[in-house]
Amino acid sequence: MHTQALKEFDGDIYASIGRELKRQEEGLEMIPSENFVSPAVLEALGSILTNKYSEGYAGKRYYGGCEFIDEVETLAIDRAKQLFGAEHVNVQPLSGAPANIAVYFALLSPGDTVLGMDLSHGGHLTHGHPVTYMAKIFNFVRYKTNAEGLIDLDNLRQMTLEHKPKIILVGYSAYSREIEYAKIKAIADEAGAITMADIAHIAGLIAAGEMSNPVPIFDVVTTTTHKTLRGPRGGMIMCKEKFAKAIDKSVFPGFQGGPHENNIAAKAVAFKEALEPAFKDYAKQIKANAKILEEEFKKRDYKLCFGGTDNHLLLIDVTPKNLSGKEAQIALDKAGITVNKNMIPDDPRSPMDPSGIRLGTPALTTRGMKENEMRQIAAWIDEAIMNWQDETKLADIRRQVIELTKKFPLYSI
Ligand SMILES: *Cc1c(COP(=O)(O)O)cnc(C)c1O
Repeated sequence: MHTQALKEFDGDIYASIGRELKRQEEGLEMIPSENFVSPAVLEALGSILTNKYSEGYAGKRYYGGCEFIDEVETLAIDRAKQLFGAEHVNVQPLSGAPANIAVYFALLSPGDTVLGMDLSHGGHLTHGHPVTYMAKIFNFVRYKTNAEGLIDLDNLRQMTLEHKPKIILVGYSAYSREIEYAKIKAIADEAGAITMADIAHIAGLIAAGEMSNPVPIFDVVTTTTHKTLRGPRGGMIMCKEKFAKAIDKSVFPGFQGGPHENNIAAKAVAFKEALEPAFKDYAKQIKANAKILEEEFKKRDYKLCFGGTDNHLLLIDVTPKNLSGKEAQIALDKAGITVNKNMIPDDPRSPMDPSGIRLGTPALTTRGMKENEMRQIAAWIDEAIMNWQDETKLADIRRQVIELTKKFPLYSI
């Protein structure tokens, strides 16, 4: 095998990684699903655990030589249980979408109904959007937020009684409010439905006690590990003991092959980090930073979807400022600020050129940015949006952004 370092063996990939590192260091990362992992997480991810096949579960593997892999996976599971108060945990899902698919196949038969939130109201593609394969197999019925931007529980109850879903699904990608799990559980119980929460975006805030935790209340909870939870790119399923067998069988052998144990080790490291008191401070600051952005944008008359934020993100309708979400995203990119264009509830525009932008604070907060930086960044975002066709202005903001990022170094690699 080659023994050269990456730099010597493959200068092309090495250089691309270097350019991406510079982009991450010199930009303001405000895509709310992104974050920066610690060097310890990166080390576990790049470890020799990637060499091992370990199909099955700890103590019940199809391959020999799994004794240390079992240690790793068991630690990851125990820490996740401690973090969320879960009865049962499966850490093998390769990412958030595969975790959701594994749950659907564990609990549903083809044609069964799932009640999930509409994509434009904050739901996720994997919650039954017509472009997904899951929508060809299961019957997804979609609920929406009301005119005030909140989840209308009376309407959710009516839809539940009418459609008799097998699963009621909550947990979102662009929704900025708290979720009333106990009330939704009561509605589900009335109709004998299984409750499922997808906490992909807010898992870190929940782990830190900064948002309410569905794990003790709901039957099944899925998540990614790479968003606010600040671990490696991956997925996880937590459930009541009653569903444990079905979930495990669905992940493997139902859906996936060998688990990625280097990734599972990195998850375990991230969970250890999240169990530390410092992670609570981090989650508090994520929310405090998002509140400052809310305040600053309201001051400047921006139209905030759902009326504001209880978590780490904001969805903003930029069309009253006379540009589209796509135009805002492009202008902000030129200014060194990364956000994503996003549909707003019942968006009259198209998904590729929607009305809104979605932005959040998890990555900036990891860099150590606080209230003062948020005020400055909101002012830059406003300036870029109001001058979106002025290349000189955008370049000027970018220069200031780079100056700011130098005060918050990311990796000293
Ligand atoms: C991000 C996200 C997912 C998908 O996760 P991937 O890792 O991209 O597959 C699923 N559900 C929700 C609510 C998400 O926000």
